[in-house]
Amino acid sequence: MLEIDVISLFPRLFEAFLGESFVGLAQERERARVTLHDLREWTTDRHRTVDDSPYGGGPGMLMKPEPLVAAIEALAGVKGAERRARVVLLSPQGKRLDQQWLQEASRAEHLVIVCGRYEGVDQRAIDLAVDEEISLGDFVLCGGEIPAMALIEGMMRLLPGVLGNPESVLSESFGGDLLEGPQYTRPAEFRGQAVPEVLLSGDHAMIARWREEKAVETTRRRRPDLMVAAQGKDGR
Ligand code: SAM
Repeated sequence: MLEIDVISLFPRLFEAFLGESFVGLAQERERARVTLHDLREWTTDRHRTVDDSPYGGGPGMLMKPEPLVAAIEALAGVKGAERRARVVLLSPQGKRLDQQWLQEASRAEHLVIVCGRYEGVDQRAIDLAVDEEISLGDFVLCGGEIPAMALIEGMMRLLPGVLGNPESVLSESFGGDLLEGPQYTRPAEFRGQAVPEVLLSGDHAMIARWREEKAVETTRRRRPDLMVAAQGKDGR
């Protein structure tokens, strides 16, 4: 069972997301459990303050270190050898999220996911309590909640017993070296466009060959950088 604790200032943003589709299913089937935590539960002042202005000036506010470190340590333990969970902060400055990270993280037992807000987090909280920073891409959102949902959904669909057909993970984009090629469903003709003949042939070996060729073609056209790695392996 993959246990995930999420620390956020807006935990309600997750409510519908956690109940639907594969994310809901993973929890129903007890492959994962997600617990939401409002960071304000770890404040100690009357106003439940979680932010303050940056030293040295500058726009916006920063997340204060005290409630955040207290929350992380309550859920994951103190950073170091005795830590009970891996602590991930969503940050545009982090390592870019990829399928390999999701595969590896989905095998963890316990993750604490921290969603930043405002202009980000006091650096001391990161240094003292965070194990790694993960970015959704080279752009800036208002908070870590949407990136956290991407992490959660990406991991949960990899858990055994969650996807109807676990093989789809292997053949889809980033399951191997290539992007997946084009796919078609009924009707066989739509607005004058026919489904490629081979897919209607019933010849599974030929279909597999066609799919492989299309995957190579698609990858070469859209992501030539991925082809370099694939070529290194088997000389495509
Ligand atoms: N001032 C920060 C900077 O320039 O790096 C950006 C802070 S952003 C407005 C507020 C929060 O949104 C971040 O702390 C982070 O948790 C989240 N966030 C924004 N963009 C993100 C991204 N691309 N990936 C992951 N988290 C992101």
